[in-house]
Amino acid sequence: MRRPAIFIIITKRRLYFLMIAIVALILIATYVASGLQRTISVYFFNALEGKTIAIDPGHGGIDGGTHFGDDILEKHINLEISLRLKKELENEGATVIMTRDSDVSLDDHINNGSRHREDLNERVRIINSSEADIFISIHANCIKNTGRQGPIVFYHGNSEESKKIAELLQRNLNRLSAYEKQDIKPGHSATKGDYFILNNTSAPGVIVETGFISNELDRRLLLDGKHQREIVELIIQGVIEYFDQ
Ligand SMILES: [Zn+2]
Repeated sequence: MRRPAIFIIITKRRLYFLMIAIVALILIATYVASGLQRTISVYFFNALEGKTIAIDPGHGGIDGGTHFGDDILEKHINLEISLRLKKELENEGATVIMTRDSDVSLDDHINNGSRHREDLNERVRIINSSEADIFISIHANCIKNTGRQGPIVFYHGNSEESKKIAELLQRNLNRLSAYEKQDIKPGHSATKGDYFILNNTSAPGVIVETGFISNELDRRLLLDGKHQREIVELIIQGVIEYFDQ
């Protein structure tokens, strides 16, 4: 039996749905392709190509930072982790600017105010003139309470971008395998900090306190190359996630 009128109506409807389906498919395909392109570029090319990152290894030279006994000085731990971070960031295609890459303080470049303030001023000057997309300042904690452990990432309270970086880095650093293996959950949250570097830099950035040298486990971990490499890997993971969002 022939029903031409109904047939035409159905065809028009189908055509309508077909058009919607095609548009939807094109949109989905574009979305998947761009995601795929990103995935391919992350795995096969340099994920941080075109990004400039400033690394600030805390203290140095006459300023040892915090310490445990006479042998374990924060400045050395900061520099070791920072140099590893520099190398791995460059492997990901980033341009890296260091405020220092050896055991020096930066206070003899400018000649006004206190030595400590001069050092901090010079760090801020290097970061601001580097036109870095972000900066990462590396430190280690030391407090009286020897039970406290684990990394804490600090950001300036008025900088939304710094907060995003801090939260991504903190989330990744909370996965450090040494704590997971011992079923310890330091699990700190990214924290607002009132620090000179955070308050005076133009680019978004964070201070990473990599652990507590006042804590027995952290002290051992912070001196361990394998653990330092993992800290670096997790920081980079967070940095890639930040630029990827
Ligand atoms: Zn420090």
